[in-house]
Amino acid sequence: MRIDILTVLPELLDSPLNNSIVKRARDKGIVIINVINLRDFTKDKYKSVDDYAFGGGAGMVMMIEPVYKAIEKLKSEREYDDIIYTSPDGKQFTQKMANTLSLENNIIILAGHYKGVDQRIRDHLITREISIGDYVLSGGEIPAVVITDAIVRLIPGAMSDEQSALSDSFQDDLLAPPVYTRPAEFLGWKVPDVLLSGHAAEIEKWRYGQSLERTKRLRPDLEKE
Ligand code: SAH
Repeated sequence: MRIDILTVLPELLDSPLNNSIVKRARDKGIVIINVINLRDFTKDKYKSVDDYAFGGGAGMVMMIEPVYKAIEKLKSEREYDDIIYTSPDGKQFTQKMANTLSLENNIIILAGHYKGVDQRIRDHLITREISIGDYVLSGGEIPAVVITDAIVRLIPGAMSDEQSALSDSFQDDLLAPPVYTRPAEFLGWKVPDVLLSGHAAEIEKWRYGQSLERTKRLRPDLEKE
């Protein structure tokens, strides 16, 4: 899989894309993540990527041209399954969406900045608009990282224990059960006996029960009919 991220602030993406599971997946060649600086597609000496909004008002707008040129260059090199724009008015990101995107081969993620990108880019080039929640961030870089991380950990081979992704919350519309590690007792706080029993079937049953109980209590909206 290949993910191209277009941004005016590549530095914001550095650390999260170069640590943990995402780094390991990149090192293993399971995913190519290519961060593109939109300033490389500007033509003036100030490398401007933003301009004043037509009609006035506060805030700058991301210009069409650098974004258009960057996307056209990528599209001339390969076919893209999706060209995503991160936006508070986009469709709310979910695990299901991450699952779908993890099956694609090539995607572009355009991180917005300032007041957002010129609407014509959204109208003519973007195939999917994603919000990571009902709040406004300063830029789409953190949303791009959130989306990328959620996708990459699902690609087979990205995680050392592949089963692990399947037992996470939201897969199967259930929240994950609680987890414990050593010591078995701390200040009198005990680990549930069943987890120390070594009885695999009992443990599985207990975990499933905990998942159901947690989902009912914390996220009744996830429950299946
Ligand atoms: N004026 C816009 C917000 C601009 S915030 C509005 O009111 O909708 C600047 C950029 O940050 C946006 O263009 C978008 O790319 C990104 N962004 C901010 N909040 C986001 C969110 N919740 N989800 C996804 N992207 C977001």
